[in-house]
Amino acid sequence: MRAMILDAPGWPLREATIPIPVPQAGQVLLRVRACGVCRTDLHVADGELAHPKLPLILGHEIVGIVQARATGAERFPVGSRVGVPWLGWTCGECAYCRSALENLCDRARFTGYQLDGGYAEYAIADERFCFAIPDGYDDLKAAPLLCAGLIGYRALVAAGAGERLGIYGFGAAAHLVTQVARFQGRRVFAFTRPGDAAAQEFARSLGAAWAGASDKPAPEPLDAAIIFAPVGALVPVALRAVAKGGTVVCAGIHMSDVPAFPYEILWGERVVRSVANLTRKDGEEFLALAPHVPVRTEVEPYELERANVALERMRAGNVRGAAVLRCGA
Ligand SMILES: [Zn+2]
Ligand SMILES: [Zn+2]
Repeated sequence: MRAMILDAPGWPLREATIPIPVPQAGQVLLRVRACGVCRTDLHVADGELAHPKLPLILGHEIVGIVQARATGAERFPVGSRVGVPWLGWTCGECAYCRSALENLCDRARFTGYQLDGGYAEYAIADERFCFAIPDGYDDLKAAPLLCAGLIGYRALVAAGAGERLGIYGFGAAAHLVTQVARFQGRRVFAFTRPGDAAAQEFARSLGAAWAGASDKPAPEPLDAAIIFAPVGALVPVALRAVAKGGTVVCAGIHMSDVPAFPYEILWGERVVRSVANLTRKDGEEFLALAPHVPVRTEVEPYELERANVALERMRAGNVRGAAVLRCGA
């Protein structure tokens, strides 16, 4: 099969032809149709996340067709369409796994990081961590639901039920979360890089009540804010924007250092928290909700061998919505 391989952090991905992987007990072999490109992929490729499997196939927003099933894999029939998210395996035994926090499992393994992902024509996955994909989304448009969508959804839940929601960084996750927040009757305030008129216009087109630069104050106090940009300096900015009792959610897996800030901007029972990974329950809930909103994904498609181009466009902040690879074996 063709695959894009990360040989070492800091290197561009290398196009290669390698053997089709063989599913082990409980796993399915998928013919990959599409795979989303996530900011986390950049963090892995750049070496900001330690100890990836190497060589590695990136990609944890996989939409594929079940081609074969190993012993014990009976959940999805051959020919059915499934999605593979970031959470690829958990131990099922630790205190986190036993308390509905499998996203924090001490021994969790992640797709496209410790397990090979979907920048390839085929992939294998543990069927227990796969999702059925809602009808009505073609392969390319379904892919971003699997990380941008469902981790964005986890962040939205963590932000609480407040009506005035700030979103910092308007990429793939933000464009989906905005639609869910609007559906829930909230008002969305979108903060982008200063001067990024295209992203601000995009946010308004999705129903944001206000869009502007992150170096400007919010037009009114917010009840909560979600930071999708990997920029620690936005934490005190968002804290200043939220009202007493408000929550600031850091939704990315990696962030530059958070600068020191005066206690008074945390005072008043403001909360800063992170959101890590996903649970299977998050995925089931979000994928059931998405068609009702309905969440519409805006995608920039790329052929598999152009994965490096997609990653660089995302690094530069130039992707409108989500970049998705067409893997189609
Ligand atoms: Zn565990
Ligand atoms: Zn992701």
